[in-house]
Amino acid sequence: MKFKPESYRIPDEPMKSFIDAEEIGGYLNRSPSTTEEVEKVIARSLDKHRLTLEETAILLNASDSGSIQHIKEGARELKRKIYGKRVVLFAPLYIGNKCSNECTYCGFRSSNKAQLRKTLTDEELAKEIEALEDNGQKRLILVYGEHAEYDPAFIAKTVRIAYRVKKGNGEIRRVNINAAPLDIEGFRTVKAAGIGTYQIFQETYHPEAYKKYHLRGKKADYDNRLTALDRAQEAGLDDVGIGALFGLYDWRFEVMALVRHTNHLEACYNVGPHTISFPRVKDASMLHMGDRYFVSDEDFSRLVAILRLAVPYTGMILTAREPAALRDELLQFGVSQIDGGTRIELGGYTEKEQQHDLNKGQFLIHDDRSLDEVVDELLDQEMLPSFCTACYRLGRTGEHFMEFSVPGFIKQFCTPNAMLTLSEYLVDYASEQTAEKGWRVINKNLEQLSEQRQREVRDRIARIRQGERDLYF
Ligand code: SAM
Ligand code: SF4
Repeated sequence: MKFKPESYRIPDEPMKSFIDAEEIGGYLNRSPSTTEEVEKVIARSLDKHRLTLEETAILLNASDSGSIQHIKEGARELKRKIYGKRVVLFAPLYIGNKCSNECTYCGFRSSNKAQLRKTLTDEELAKEIEALEDNGQKRLILVYGEHAEYDPAFIAKTVRIAYRVKKGNGEIRRVNINAAPLDIEGFRTVKAAGIGTYQIFQETYHPEAYKKYHLRGKKADYDNRLTALDRAQEAGLDDVGIGALFGLYDWRFEVMALVRHTNHLEACYNVGPHTISFPRVKDASMLHMGDRYFVSDEDFSRLVAILRLAVPYTGMILTAREPAALRDELLQFGVSQIDGGTRIELGGYTEKEQQHDLNKGQFLIHDDRSLDEVVDELLDQEMLPSFCTACYRLGRTGEHFMEFSVPGFIKQFCTPNAMLTLSEYLVDYASEQTAEKGWRVINKNLEQLSEQRQREVRDRIARIRQGERDLYF
């Protein structure tokens, strides 16, 4: 869905750099925000307005504990009021870790000879997909190093394999990508394979800091990366994900820059990013980084809450890099998607045990619960795990915006679809304990639907129990 918020039209040009470090610094160097300023900005966000850079800076410049508490409560309320209890689940799948870049925070960097390099063969990929389907996954993000072997044709081939391989009732219904920036033609090639979101993180938006961390290879070109998602849009790929790697530079700067990137895409292409990611740097093989910009848990939850308020209709992803307890907490502040049952070693899903070997993965993860454990614990918190892919398959792109702006959209579509995909999971893959909790949560959520929707959902659940699959609204 196209959307142009009048007040955010700015004179950006497509395919041109848009980050002005001085401008951002200027906003951040203002005096601490007053409680009244903070309250006003929170109220604007709760009133369904996306925040300007100036308003975002007011939240970032709030330093007294009362204001910080209000920001968190504001994010909690926004999440509760707009998005409800639904959490979308996915899994990452590493396809190859060869890399010709030298990003000093990453275990895959070219100079790291200790890293075991591997690219999945087509057969190995098919086996990984089957293993993921056996776990109940429906949504994947494929991840690649930046290497001549991983060209657009290769990426497209792996996407097609992921969609093609089906086992039992299992199938992958949405394949997202996290890979190097491509040229316009390259983006067209991967779009033609039917990808969902193309995700690229700028790592740090600060141009000088960027230079320090990216020593060699194509990724050393800051502008080429910054404008990559413009090229995706030019290629007709309007479902894109942005992100920053927190720990490389001042977290406040990165939050401002993520909002600025959102402004840019909206100004030039009438559509903001589908998702925002905010990974924190984790331990990696040969990681040599000081802790000058380390982001504490306290600041991390603050930044997630501020992002939620700043871009209320953008999906927010938090991965298994973070420990379970922190993920649970941040779900309350507006995270909308998490991965579950994650393995990041090449070929990890077909191995029995999770390995915590720095030389077999890009970094260490801190949540190694199985998908069933994640679902089970979400249900304990009365959350509604969802594997829904309906919008994307019905061409209803920009669903986060619709959830936000179309009255009743969540009740009419998202919640019922979450229940249907959860029902499939409960019938096909869940442990007995999870299934019991899952049906209880579904029944509770059913009661909140209109009578007609209730009937329709009950009817579809009955059909799922009898063996039908892939039913949605
Ligand atoms: N090679 C592609 C690229 O650089 O765009 C694909 C991305 S890489 C496989 C996925 C992401 O992992 C990177 O964009 C970076 O943000 C993140 N990452 C790299 N090293 C990390 C670390 N030590 N801890 C946490 N995240 C890390
Ligand atoms: Fe390569 Fe990406 Fe790691 Fe950089 S972050 S070394 S490009 S895999």
